[in-house]
Parts: sequence; C-alpha cells; structure tokens
Amino acid sequence: MNILERYHAMEYGPAPEARNEADAWLAGRDFSKALFIDGAWKAAASGKTFETSEPSSGKLLAKVSDAGAADIDAAVAAAAKALSKWSASSGYSRAKVLYAIGRAMQRHQRLFAVLESIDNGKPIRESRDIDVPLAIRHFIHHAGWAQKLEKDFPDHKPVGVVGQVIPWNFPLLMLAWKIAPALAAGCTVVLKPAEFTPLTAILFAEICERAGVPKGVVNIVQGGPEAGAAIVNHPGVQKIAFTGSSEVGKIIRKATAGSGKKLSLELGGKSAFIVFEDADLDSAVEGLVDGIWFNQGQVCCAGSRLLVQEGIAEALIAKVKVRMSRLRVGSPLDKNTDIGPLVDRTQLDRVKGLIAEGAKQGAVCWQPDAALPTTGYYHLPTLATSVSPANILAQEEVFGPVLATMSFRNTEEAIELANNTRYGLAASVWSENINLALHVAPQLKAGVVWVNGTNMFDAACGFGGYRESGFGREGGREGMFEYLAVKLPAGPAIKPAAAGSAQPVEQPDGTSIDRTAKLFIGGKQVRPDGNYSLAVATAKGKLAGEVGLGSRKDIRDAVAAARACKAWPEATTYNRSQVLYYLAENLSGRADEFAARLVQLTGVAAKAAREEVEQSIERLFLYAGLADKFEGRVHQPPARVVTLALHEPVGVVGIVAPDNQPLLNFVSLVAPALAMGNTVVAVPSERYPLLATDLYQVIEYSDIPAGAINIVTGRSAELAGVLAKHDDVDGLWVFADAETCAKAEADSIGNLKRVWTGNGRSLDWASDEAAGDAFLRRAIEVKNVWVPYGD
Ligand code: NAD
Repeated sequence: MNILERYHAMEYGPAPEARNEADAWLAGRDFSKALFIDGAWKAAASGKTFETSEPSSGKLLAKVSDAGAADIDAAVAAAAKALSKWSASSGYSRAKVLYAIGRAMQRHQRLFAVLESIDNGKPIRESRDIDVPLAIRHFIHHAGWAQKLEKDFPDHKPVGVVGQVIPWNFPLLMLAWKIAPALAAGCTVVLKPAEFTPLTAILFAEICERAGVPKGVVNIVQGGPEAGAAIVNHPGVQKIAFTGSSEVGKIIRKATAGSGKKLSLELGGKSAFIVFEDADLDSAVEGLVDGIWFNQGQVCCAGSRLLVQEGIAEALIAKVKVRMSRLRVGSPLDKNTDIGPLVDRTQLDRVKGLIAEGAKQGAVCWQPDAALPTTGYYHLPTLATSVSPANILAQEEVFGPVLATMSFRNTEEAIELANNTRYGLAASVWSENINLALHVAPQLKAGVVWVNGTNMFDAACGFGGYRESGFGREGGREGMFEYLAVKLPAGPAIKPAAAGSAQPVEQPDGTSIDRTAKLFIGGKQVRPDGNYSLAVATAKGKLAGEVGLGSRKDIRDAVAAARACKAWPEATTYNRSQVLYYLAENLSGRADEFAARLVQLTGVAAKAAREEVEQSIERLFLYAGLADKFEGRVHQPPARVVTLALHEPVGVVGIVAPDNQPLLNFVSLVAPALAMGNTVVAVPSERYPLLATDLYQVIEYSDIPAGAINIVTGRSAELAGVLAKHDDVDGLWVFADAETCAKAEADSIGNLKRVWTGNGRSLDWASDEAAGDAFLRRAIEVKNVWVPYGD
C-alpha cells in the first residue's frame, strides 16, 4: 500500500463533542416554568406542557411549559409596560445591553452550540462554527445601530411592542435576527420559538437575566401554533415579524389585515443554484454541499434546484455523486458529521412523501450507498435527475436533503428556469466570468444572490425575499427599517365611496367639455370593456363629464400592459429622470387648465387650485431628481466579499388614489413608483377622475413608454379588490376607506404582494412628509448580491 492508498483507506474515528454541560443544564432546570415574562420564569397559566425530544434518538429532552392566550396577554402587557422607558433610553444604554448580551453569549458559546445540536439535530460543526457565532455577531453589530439610530434614521420612531414567531431550523440564529434589531430600535419583544426547538431560547433568556436586560424588554414564550396565533392577533402588538412557512405566512397576512400592524414575513424558498459551463466545477460541487446539504437541507434559502448548463451536466453530476457518497451521515455531536437527523419524524415523513411523489412524476432519485444510524430521523442525501420543471421536486420546498437537477442551454434559459417558481428568496450563480454573473444576478427574482458561493450571511447585510418568500429584510440598515415607523402626515378618514362619491347627475353645467374620457392602457386610450361610464359631478352637483367604468377585465389588460413594458424598468435612471422632468414640464405648460379643472370639480378657491398644480409639478421635479439618487449601498461583511445592496423596482405596482387633493395625490403616488422603475396600474380618485384623465395627453407628450403607466377609472373599492387578487401585481398601494384597505391586505395572499395602505386615512399630500424616501423605499426591493474576491 503506498502512501496515497493508505491515505484514502483511512477511516474516520469517532470525534464526539462532550455533552455533559448540556445534560447538566437540562437536568438542572424546571422546564415547566419556562416562560420568561417580565423578567421572571413562569409556568403556563393552564399548567400545560409540551415535549421536546432529541432528533438523533427520539428520546425526550424536556417537558416545556406551553403558553396559552393568558400567558401571551401577560407577556404583551409586560412588553408594553417596559416600552416607554426602553424606547426613551439613550442609544448608548441600549447599545451596552446589546453588547452585554453578545459578550455573555460568547462566554457560553459551546453550551449554546451543543444544546442546539441536541435539540435540532444539526451537526455540531454547523452550530459551533456558523449558527452561534453569527447569532453573537448579530447582537454586537446591532449595538452600533442603537447608537447610530437618531442620526441615521431621523424622524423614525420605534414601532412599539413587537411579536416575533420563529421556526425550528435555526432556532438561536433566527432569535438573534429578530431580537437584536428590535432592541436596537427601541422596541420591546414577545418572541415565540418553534415547538420542536425551545431550548436555546430558554438559555438565551437566562443570558438576558444576567446581561442586565430590563424586565419586560425581552419576553420569551414557548408554545405551538396557538401561542403564535395569540401573539399575531393580540391588539397590544404593533408589529409582527414572522419566519416560517409560506403557508403560515399567508395565514398571518390575512389575520393582520386591517389591524395597522407592521408586518415582515421571511418565508420559504426554492432557490436556484446555477452552474455555467465556465464555472470552476470542483468549487461548485463544494458550494452545492453547502447549498443543499447544510442543516440537512432544512434551510429556507437552500440551493435545492441545480440548474446546470448542458455541456457540463454529465461531468458535474458525476462529481456531485462522488462527493455525495463521501458525505458522512451520523450523530450531530460528532465533529466529522456532515449530515445529521431531520428535526422530527413528521419532517422525515414529509421529505419521504415528496420524494415518492417526485419519482412518480418522472424524477430519477439517487442516493449514495450508505448505512443510516439505527435510531433517529435520518435521511440520505438525495439527487433527483430527469426532473421536469413542473415536477413537485422542482416546485415545492422539500426542506430536506434533496437536490433537483435540470439543465439549460443558454443564459436566457437559465434565467427563465431560475425564475420559474413562486418563491424568490435566494439564488447562487457559478461562473468564472464575473461579467456574466453580474449580468444574470439582477435578472433573478430573488432577494439574495451569491456569486460563486452560497449561504453567506452577515448581520450587516439584508436578507429576505421576493414573491411568496415574503417581504421585509433582516440585517443591517435595511433590517432596521422593519422596527421603525416614520410618521406620515395623516389626513382625514376616508369614507366608503357609496356615502361620499359622486352620484350620477343629470344636467351638464355650462363649463363641461362634452366627452367621455376613456381608460389609458398600454399607451393608448381605450374604451372600458363593459362599455359603461361613470358620471363625474362638478362641485355644484352638475355633470362635468363622464369617465369609463373600469372592470376586472380592464385591470387585467392594464396589468398585462404593465408587465409587458420592459422599456421602463430597463431604462437607465438618468433616462427615467429626464422623462419625469419632461412630464413636469408638460404639466406646467397646462397649469391653468388643470387649476380650472380643480376649481370646477372640487370647488377649491382658484389660489388653492393653482397651488395644488404647482405642488404637483414640484413633486414631479423632486422624483425626477431622485430617480438617479435613491441608490443602493455596498456592504462590507467580515470576509473577502463585497455585498452589493441593489435597489430594484418592485415590479408592477397597483395604486388606488384617494379623493383629497386629487391631482397632487395622484402625482405623489405615481411618480415615486415610476422613478424607481416600476410600471404602474393606477386607479385615480373615484370622485374626481378627470384630473387623471386630463393627464393622458401630458403623458402622451412626455416620452413615457407604452405600458409604464396605465390608468383605469372606476369604483375604487372594486378595482382595489381586483388588483389585490391579481397574481401578476407585485405591489399595491391603497388609500381608500378602512374596509377597502383591510380587504386589499387580506386579498393579497395569493402571491403575497407588498401592500401599503393608509389604513383608511388619507394624507395631507401638500406636506413635505408626503414625499421622499419613505415613498421611494416602498417602491423598491433590496437585492443583496454577494461577490467574493481574491484568489
Ligand atoms: P411553520 O410555518 O410551520 O412554523 C413557524 C413558526 O410559526 C413556529 O413557531 C410555529 O409554532 C408558528 N406557527 C404555526 N402556525 C401558526 C399560526 N397559525 N399563527 C402563528 N404562528 C404559527 O414553519 P416551520 O416548519 O417551523 O419552519 C420551516 C419554514 O420556515 C420553511 O418554510 C422555511 O423556508 C422557513 N424559513 C424561512 C426563513 C427566511 O428567512 N426566509 C428562515 C428560516 C426558515
């Protein structure tokens, strides 16, 4: 045997991590009093407990108090009581607390890691080297945000009491992602860990006790879906931050509709791992190991769809199989283990069921020839080939060690396949040609893109999804906004249209122009599909004119036109800026006419009407100027990588505008959306739609590409509902009565579009606060593109 043969023949010996400290901690605790509320340990009011067991053996670890509604009430009350003092405390004092938490966690780093591996089943190498250090980094990083808050987020206030619900796949890390920014922002929290993995959160609460976190600032309640729902529905909570499945995310979106609660959802994914033929294949294979077999594939951003260029498919798959047969499946506490058990039998059954269904649908599933441990919820790494794009393994989140493979011929096809999913969390692009990688990254519908890498995370960089992967970002500056509220200049409550809007009137007044305005779709004036019109009254109750009564079909056409318009989102920011300036110029040329129209319809004095027109022109100017200035950033995480936080348009944005200041509100809503490259379907004021229809010519003369802006007049409430349910609308802004706003939120769950409503109130559109960054931020998605450097 030569030395090389000897080397390859070497067996790994067992390298177990000691667990005595963790076992002593488990033995020394009364888990029936595991609710950490107002700085004290409590049993559930009902006395109930639930069991948490060890995935590698199925053995019971603890019976943990199971919070019910009464316990959630107590936790929210404690958080509310602590809020004013905590939010008023100086940034420095909050920073000290965050730092103290981070330092205390460092001191108990190994205990955290071992407990996490025991409770969740993840290999100790991962909990020790990734989960726990990243969680600590989150607290230390956010200490700085507490001190920077006032300067970096002027006019922002902590959002209040925050309810946070997290999953079991990264129990401590998800806790850190939630609690650190909330505390830095001055919020107090009620957090519920997942019922499979309560342990490290209990240890964390002990750390809070010792690190001087004031009572009631952090409340940690253990329990299942019922406790989660009690947090979500609690009236004393001002924001919900949820990480978990898209299914539950949708339930929460619906449950919070109309409540005015701020919401962020970090949900599931089906992320693409794209390998071009010029990639370094060996690196790509290592990337895949990390991308799909990290944490047994129970990772929201797991690269579960391998898209490989045709010419190298065979070679890459061969390498992947070799590497898979070397993955070591075994005890999570063994330092050599690559793949531990899944979290629970239910998860194991689910994974097996999905593989069986995928195979039934034509996938060929391959597993290495390896033995599984005799106890526990283990599953072999699995490679599925011959996967059609519609196969369940290509579409559903498996949340297990299963990789589905497809091939592509060229770049366009790669992008199309990558985006052929209802999710949009992450993607990874492998090519030695950085130009190609950076050409592809912006075209992927995903909140995070890793170039020649995967699963890179840092507290300084935003993480979060598009589409059904949810909304909101966690981490860094982007994540801080989720826990802050900016006060917008609230205007009057909006009355439902039946009581407030124009009713058909008979007699035209002498000033009306006798024509029916059509709809504006795809750059053309078109008749409404139903061929009905809506009478528009003057301030004196006479007939001023008629507009088309838009319907579901018209909205569908308008959305299709907005989706088809590529020229606007692909235009340079300078180009968009010039077009918006031009729009302002053209409006200014017709200022008298618009002022007269405002007087005629709304009855405002001539001076006020003139002012509204001037303000509208000024606002167009503002957004024209900001189109090329509201830019992304570059993050510098502690690694040899730059992270480009790009600002991208949300996509097709529906806008439902209110009645007050009808020209100004229309411009104030449409212009920021356009400035950021979105295409728009706008429903103007139901009562004064002629201000918007009079804009058609201004738009036509302003070089706006066909489909960039579409205007559908009609009944706001009805059209808002159609927009909310339309799965090709990516964002929706609704300023209408409270019921319409609530319904728009509830109806948005189909594709989880981003909905922004005034909660039944309008704004004072003339106020400076009704313009600027707060609007632009709603018009963008932040995509973090990670680009490593160095040889
Ligand atoms: P889950 O949605 O079943 O549960 C998540 C949490 O929600 C748990 O704490 C659970 O008790 C609670 N819950 C369940 N029903 C609820 C309800 N009706 N109201 C309120 N709370 C409720 O998800 P899971 O199985 O624990 O976790 C896996 C999912 O999490 C995967 O889909 C994964 O992609 C996702 N995830 C996403 C991210 C991200 O950042 N996007 C990170 C990690 C995990």
